[in-house]
Amino acid sequence: MSPAPPEPSAATGGRDPAPADPERLLRALELALQAEAAAGIDAVPVPAGRRQPRAGATQDAGAALAALQAAVAACTRCGLCRSRTHTVFGEGSAAPRLLFIGEGPGGEEDRTGRPFVGPAGRLLDRIIAAARLRREEVYIANIVKCRPPGNRTPTPDEVEACLPYLREQIRLLRPAVICTLGAPATRSILATAQGITRLRGQAFAFPEDPSIVVIPTYHPAYLLRAPERKRETWQDIQRVMRELDRARPDRDRA
Ligand code: SF4
Repeated sequence: MSPAPPEPSAATGGRDPAPADPERLLRALELALQAEAAAGIDAVPVPAGRRQPRAGATQDAGAALAALQAAVAACTRCGLCRSRTHTVFGEGSAAPRLLFIGEGPGGEEDRTGRPFVGPAGRLLDRIIAAARLRREEVYIANIVKCRPPGNRTPTPDEVEACLPYLREQIRLLRPAVICTLGAPATRSILATAQGITRLRGQAFAFPEDPSIVVIPTYHPAYLLRAPERKRETWQDIQRVMRELDRARPDRDRA
C-alpha cells in the first residue's frame, strides 16, 4: 500500500481544501458507500431506540444552549476574536445521540456562522446519510468557535481558552457517542498526543463522562485529499452505529 498523504495540516487547517475536483471525489465516495451497501455492508443496525427525550428536558437544553451561544458570540477570551467574521457555535438537535466534533471554522464557516458548510461539510453530510441519519438529528461542533487566520491549527492556548464552551455543550447535549473528526479534535477530547491513524478504529470512554463513547475518525477534508481512506471511515461509522445501538435509548436527561 502506498503511504497515505499526511493528516490535515496547519497549512489547510483540515478545512476548505482545494482538491482538483472535489465534486468528483464526493460523488466517488457516495458511489463507493452505495456499492458497499449493495455488497452487503449494510448490516448497520438502525438504532432501535432512537432517543425520544422528554420535551421539557429538550427545551431546557435548547434554552441553555442559546444562552451559551450568546456568550460565545461576545467572547474575547483569545486572540481569534480579532479576526473572526462570525463565531461558529455549532448546530443540530438539542438532544442528539451523536455529536461530531471538528477542529475549527474555515472560511465558509466564518462567513456563514455555520459549521461544516464547505466541501468537507458536504462530505460530512454524505457520511451522516450513509449512517442512516439526518444532519438535523445529530449535532456538529468544533473545538474552537472562531476561525484561526489562514485556517491554521489553533494553538494550545486558543484551544484551552475555548474548550470550556465545548465541554458545556457536551454536558447539555449528553450524546451517547462523540465522533471526533481528525487529529486535533481527537487529541483535545481524549487529552492525548497520539495521531489519528493510531487512534481511529477504536472506541474510548470520554474522560469527563465515561458513559459517552468517543470514536475517532478522519476529518472529511482529509478524505477529500485521501479518498483511499474512505473504507476505514466507513468502518468507523459502522462502529458509531453499533455503539448507538448499544447505548441506552432512554438515557435520563433530567
Ligand atoms: S475561539 Fe473561543 S475562546 Fe477564542 S475568542 Fe472565539 S469563542 Fe472565545
